[in-house]
Amino acid sequence: MALIVQKYGGSSVADADCIKRVARRVAETRQGGDDVVVVVSAMGDTTDELLQLAEGISERPGPRELDMLLTAGERISMALLAMAVEELGHLACSFTGSQAGVITDAAHGRAKIIDVAPGRIRSALDEGAVVIVAGFQGVSQETDDVTTLGRGGSDTTAVALAAALGADLCEIYTDVDGVFTADPRIVPAARRIPAISYEEMLELAANGAKILHLRCVEYARRFSIPLHVRSSFSRNEGTYVTADAEGNVMEDAIVSGVTHDRSEAKITIEGVPDKTGEAAAVFTALAESGINIDMIVQNVSAGDTGLTDISFTLPAADSATALHTLEGIKDRIGFRGLRHDDRIGKLSVVGAGMRSNPGVSATLFSALAAAGVNIEMISTSEIRISVVVHIHDLEAAARAAHSAFGLDGDQIEAVVYGGTGR
Ligand code: ADP
Ligand code: ASP
Ligand code: MG
Repeated sequence: MALIVQKYGGSSVADADCIKRVARRVAETRQGGDDVVVVVSAMGDTTDELLQLAEGISERPGPRELDMLLTAGERISMALLAMAVEELGHLACSFTGSQAGVITDAAHGRAKIIDVAPGRIRSALDEGAVVIVAGFQGVSQETDDVTTLGRGGSDTTAVALAAALGADLCEIYTDVDGVFTADPRIVPAARRIPAISYEEMLELAANGAKILHLRCVEYARRFSIPLHVRSSFSRNEGTYVTADAEGNVMEDAIVSGVTHDRSEAKITIEGVPDKTGEAAAVFTALAESGINIDMIVQNVSAGDTGLTDISFTLPAADSATALHTLEGIKDRIGFRGLRHDDRIGKLSVVGAGMRSNPGVSATLFSALAAAGVNIEMISTSEIRISVVVHIHDLEAAARAAHSAFGLDGDQIEAVVYGGTGR
């Protein structure tokens, strides 16, 4: 008898019929003799709707109350799924993150799991129940308050429970047939990747492929939990995410995937004195405001002005805080001005094969040029190249890059079964 953790995302539990369908799938696994722990997300776009409700009440809702509100979404689906499983004649018991023993730090909205104490889950399993856990939430060890793990965090709940329970398998059920070479919603020619390494999946997730939460992949790698990402709407095999990804049909591909990210903005600090310590002062101030910087570009100083421009990207949601912080140090640093642009998108190509193949940048830049896309910023890692482009060019850029690296499938295999892509 195995222990299987299954996670169902929002579109898989979007309405009563979807919940009943998921219940049948869960019951089938249980009937096969295995123990099942299910992690659920909030129904459909519930989390976005709750956020909108909060915005209608307060411009800047307090983080504690926001987490109280958002965790309600997952509680609704867990209870309804437990009822649906019981309707099928199985014992079922739902738990909030806190009841399930998901212990986090106190950082509301982006809490990190620091421990899992799955005593109640184990007892319920021992009694023969299917256990259903609300994803994306935990309880702070310091404050005893309810916390959330950040958007998409239910994936991480599933892997954390799989690790704590020593599960044999962790299945992530979603609205597409696995991890594709690009988001099938914008690149219809995307192909399913049958197997991918943690390392490449980390790069994809870190650069906008929201199919898996970044911390879920980090967690899975740390605890060697193999993941199977697949659709809850079909019976098709999905994508195995493992350490070595044997059997990856794209082994000879230099690039394994193309990602896009609309969530960032760009800030340019104009006329920064080009002397030692200025960049340190700027980025220390931003770090102290809790802002995560992504790309940074500093130009050589223009002519003999002794002044340079520094541009960087950051989560668009942090723009106001960043601008406020920079205004605060303007006189001390002596820069001239600030420019803010939230009409940008980031495109990345990712592939372990880049290490041993020159010319990847040339191929990407030529493809973008041919598609008439202007590049605003560039950054690279060992297995990734990212560019910032105008938001209007992002989808065309993704399709052009996907074609240029030979990733387009001969036939359309990418089915999007549900969800709104929000
Ligand atoms: P869930 O609610 O099941 O967690 P998400 O919306 O978080 O689902 O993630 C699934 C979505 O991720 C897909 O519908 C797809 O639009 C998007 N996506 C982005 N990049 C990829 C990719 N490389 N492969 C598959 N899906 C992707
Ligand atoms: N419901 C949360 C969200 O929409 C968490 C999740 O779905 O994983 O981000
Ligand atoms: Mg998700």
